[in-house]
Amino acid sequence: MAASKDGEVKQGGLGTPSNPRSVVILGSGCAGLTAAIYTARASLDPLLVDGHEAGGQLSLTTDVENYPGFPEGILGPELIEKMRQQAARFGTEYLHGAAAGADLSRRPFRLTLDGRGEIFTRTLIIATGASARMLGLASEKRLLGHGLSTCATCDGFFFRGKEIAVVGGGDSAMEEATFLTKFATKVTIVHRGQTLRASKIMQDRATKNPKIVFVWDSVVDEVLGAETVEGIRLKNVKSGKHSELKTEGLFVAIGHVPNTRVFEGQIELDKAGYIVTHGNSKTSVPGVFAAGDCQDHVYRQAVTAAGSGCMAAMDAERFLEAEGH
Ligand code: NAP
Repeated sequence: MAASKDGEVKQGGLGTPSNPRSVVILGSGCAGLTAAIYTARASLDPLLVDGHEAGGQLSLTTDVENYPGFPEGILGPELIEKMRQQAARFGTEYLHGAAAGADLSRRPFRLTLDGRGEIFTRTLIIATGASARMLGLASEKRLLGHGLSTCATCDGFFFRGKEIAVVGGGDSAMEEATFLTKFATKVTIVHRGQTLRASKIMQDRATKNPKIVFVWDSVVDEVLGAETVEGIRLKNVKSGKHSELKTEGLFVAIGHVPNTRVFEGQIELDKAGYIVTHGNSKTSVPGVFAAGDCQDHVYRQAVTAAGSGCMAAMDAERFLEAEGH
């Protein structure tokens, strides 16, 4: 068990069956951190477990221009760091690691931490977010990190002066492609349809960018290259014809999958794996609350995630109060 630099887990801080924590939060994106700020200010001494992608999706992005209170915009990682400090200021304790298992069938709830110990808690706030969806090709898996990426912000720099491709037709694909034109000489967006799902403003930015070209009605059915990406094989979904496109990089930007597998069979999930809540943060298990992208496939914004983190914190506080804690 490793304590993070900005918080420390007190001795016996993982809780025991007879002396559990009041609130444990899983996930360190803006939903989890907002829940931490609120529960810490309510003197509930929250323990926040970072998860596999510390900082969540904001830590993988550059400029955030639509988070209220920052008229000039703010960098995603900077915004996360500020929230983290704010939560620490009121006593949030941080723990590196992720929940590998959970028993929500009895109280206190029991969480297994990557095989390195157990946490016992009266309430649980799940804010585990969602991760990048992949195409599902063996060649994609093999070349991930070798010219194939799911994060333009992280890897765009490596493609200075190169020609690259982006898969997807949503806001993520438009945003990544536009960002990548800072480095690449040409960006080809491959979309399986003819209509973009992206918002008008993001579409306009991409379509007006002289470095961006589109390939419509096409899917990537093979990523080419032995040790690094050298090209992609495209299949036109209408004609069935194959073609090859030379490219030194491929960015997969086709949406996200909620990080909820650990809770399968324990709480109600929808068909896509998102946690079901009913207009608040309550899940099918009393005492377990959900916030952010793991329960939201509609809005998925930093500000809505933060708002739902606040709701989960207040619901957890009320739950504990009603139980006499
Ligand atoms: P999305 O809206 O779900 O779009 C996913 C795109 O990938 C769709 O165009 C989809 O095609 C395509 N796709 C899915 N599976 C595919 C596959 N196996 N092969 C090929 N293409 C596939 O996901 P997103 O773009 O990540 O956006 C998610 C949410 O975050 C949205 O609400 C979005 O508005 C928001 N967002 C906002 C911003 C911003 O405002 N700055 C930036 C990024 C994301 P079809 O269209 O044919 O289904």
